[in-house]
Amino acid sequence: MNERLEKYAKLIVKTGVNIQKNQILVINSPIECADFARRVAEAAYDAGAKDVVVNWNDEILNKIRFNKAAEEVFDEFPEWRKEFYLGYARQDAAFVSIAASDPEILKDVNPDRIARAQKVSGNALKEYRERMMSNKNTWCVVSIPTKAWAQKIFPNDSVEVAVDKLWQAILQTVRVGEGDPVEAWAKHQAALKKSKDKMNAYNFKYLKYKNSIGTDLTVELPEGHIWLSGAEYTPEGREFIANMPTEEVFSMPKRNGVNGTVVSSKPLNYHGNLIENFKLTFKDGKVVEYSAEKGQAILQKLLEADDSSSYLGEVALVPYDSPISNLDILFYNTLFDENASCHLAFGKAYPVCIKDGDTMSPAELEKAGVNDSLIHEDFMIGTEDLEIIGVTHEGKEVAVFKNGNFAE
Ligand code: ZN
Ligand code: ZN
Repeated sequence: MNERLEKYAKLIVKTGVNIQKNQILVINSPIECADFARRVAEAAYDAGAKDVVVNWNDEILNKIRFNKAAEEVFDEFPEWRKEFYLGYARQDAAFVSIAASDPEILKDVNPDRIARAQKVSGNALKEYRERMMSNKNTWCVVSIPTKAWAQKIFPNDSVEVAVDKLWQAILQTVRVGEGDPVEAWAKHQAALKKSKDKMNAYNFKYLKYKNSIGTDLTVELPEGHIWLSGAEYTPEGREFIANMPTEEVFSMPKRNGVNGTVVSSKPLNYHGNLIENFKLTFKDGKVVEYSAEKGQAILQKLLEADDSSSYLGEVALVPYDSPISNLDILFYNTLFDENASCHLAFGKAYPVCIKDGDTMSPAELEKAGVNDSLIHEDFMIGTEDLEIIGVTHEGKEVAVFKNGNFAE
């Protein structure tokens, strides 16, 4: 196990954020993941990093604060915290985030406090997020097990067994096993590239989604949209992988071009709360009707986060028959669940998913049909019977997905 953890830490530093000589690495880590964060830090120093700065977080303390702190603190965001992120980003730091939260940690917290805290942090960190979503810095989101999270996934096992099972699953999804994971990733990326190239060559005007749980949705794609997968690049051409694992081929919908109904296929863990079995109806890009069997109030907060959070910012294709999906584990963690399922995202689109998007002004992006929002939240819609038809600019229809997988 030790050896595999070393490999994983090295993979994150080298293939994930591609650390450069004399660069600073910032690690966002839960305190429970301290051992692994130290391994990542050591691997970064060994790879030539000038320094490693760890931003520890504690979800239990966070919950205590949500319940007990004074009302006004949820409308404030300290300047020094903003400066922390932006300052390091401007110094060309790389960012690794360990995502490993208890999926329902905030279920008894007043949703109004959570929504306000998210809004104020979204506003304060807008420029930082902008930089990340335009690939100005290299960044990588990864996961390792925590006890609470593992027990949510494997409720019938002891803590030790649950954590061990989750480790095995995670290492499998990030291709850390017997051989050289860096090599395995190169191979994986080549496979993803095939689907991406195909989607870019078709340059579809619309994608039409249909399945038996009630999805019947048309997504218009903007002129100049670009499908991406696997590696991404900074403006200087530095390669990195933003999510480990990643199985998706993704682009952006046109802000006002989404119509019809879509039904979720997996629960969505939205900052410590679950939204389950939800259904959304879109008109000209905006959600005009919605319902959820569980978490309706949380879904409402999400859709009302700002003027654009009820519009879409991402369209992503993941075969039903893919390695993560085949594990048949519901992770309650978007990093894994989105890579096991076709998905869409509420909110901000990645500017790099449209031609010249990383250099366009906000007004130009808006004109091109690129959604901008304080949030970007993926939700899963893939099923084993999902059909997607692509419509070209000439009106020709092409099967993109059949029975949940890429056609042909
Ligand atoms: Zn995605
Ligand atoms: Zn996304």
